[in-house]
Amino acid sequence: MHDPFQAFGHKENVEFMNVPFLDLQMQFNQIRSEIMSAIEAVCEEQHFILGSRVIELEQTLASYIGCDYAVGVASGSDALLLALMAVDVQPGDEVVTVPFTFFSTASVISRLQAIPVFIDIRPDTFLMDPAQLETRLTSRTKAIIPVHLFGQCADMDVILDVAHRKGIPVIEDACQAIGATRRGVRAGAWGVAGCFSFFPSKNLGGFGDGGLITTNDPDLRDTISSLRVHVSRSGYEHVCMGVNSRLDALQAAVLTVKSRYLDVWNATRRAHASLYAQLFAEANLLDRVSLPWIEPGNESIFHQYTIRAKHRDQLMAYLTQKGIGHRVYYPTPLHLQDCYRHLGYGPGSFPVSESAADTVLSLPIFPELSKEQIAYVVGTIQDFYRLG
Ligand SMILES: *Cc1c(COP(=O)(O)O)cnc(C)c1O
Repeated sequence: MHDPFQAFGHKENVEFMNVPFLDLQMQFNQIRSEIMSAIEAVCEEQHFILGSRVIELEQTLASYIGCDYAVGVASGSDALLLALMAVDVQPGDEVVTVPFTFFSTASVISRLQAIPVFIDIRPDTFLMDPAQLETRLTSRTKAIIPVHLFGQCADMDVILDVAHRKGIPVIEDACQAIGATRRGVRAGAWGVAGCFSFFPSKNLGGFGDGGLITTNDPDLRDTISSLRVHVSRSGYEHVCMGVNSRLDALQAAVLTVKSRYLDVWNATRRAHASLYAQLFAEANLLDRVSLPWIEPGNESIFHQYTIRAKHRDQLMAYLTQKGIGHRVYYPTPLHLQDCYRHLGYGPGSFPVSESAADTVLSLPIFPELSKEQIAYVVGTIQDFYRLG
């Protein structure tokens, strides 16, 4: 059997190795010439906003995700905002989502003066618990936003079942899940709209901000396309309020190049996750850490490799000392944020999200990571629990 520890000749871990949490430089170095010529082509064209480069990316990603249309926008947050605007979320409306996610999943709801209504997550997958959905829907519920956190699809079939019965649109926060599938269907192809982010650290990251909305509904596509350019007729006649949220040609050109590598990068992340799982098991650490649980039928793109760890905060200090990058996504659930105090939730409102916030730890998983680095991470965690 292949033994990554063999590289060091013995089972003792090496003294020190630098393992960054994420290294975008390595990826850039591998595709530098392709990226630079795409950027140069845009500079020659001098057409910087929307245009043929953006259309090319929209078509490429719509067909990759399995949707009829895709609309490029300025960020993942804007993708969520425009999707909510497109399904006509109004002040006072309710939008159901989870508190264990990145801030903008909920802040876009508030930006429209609508009310975020939270439901808790599943303890095993960290994803929206569909069992809690039905009881939280009211006559004012205007949309549901499940989040495909860490690269795994939420229980879309169950969520859509409830939503369809009530006639409520589902908008997917697929910002961490480009390429992820559930029963063979990709994230972003389930709901009325799928929202993606090209923030540089995402699995498909640009050289700046960017985002995308997917849909099969031609009317929704038209509405969103118009919202992203201030809803103007003929340029200067405005029938309602939109925003400035366009994707740049430079970003689109970079992303089109990178999209060709996405499947390989995602598969490499999955291979890294398998190696982590194998090494954690061999190190007998499964009573100290719990590994990411991928639901049968789901294929994760491992945007994050997120474990739960005993004595997490002490472990983090030890990892820092040993040169290993790590992060906590997310340390404070949204219902406990100061800006959401007015919603009236408190500690104990969403115990699963709160316990996740206290125990989760994301380890390095970017594709260019070496097996030796992964072995060093697991070996260091083993040392920590042995010493502790
Ligand atoms: C990154 C992210 C967003 C926001 O995307 P930006 O492009 O940074 O605006 C929204 N939701 C989730 C779950 C994300 O990970």
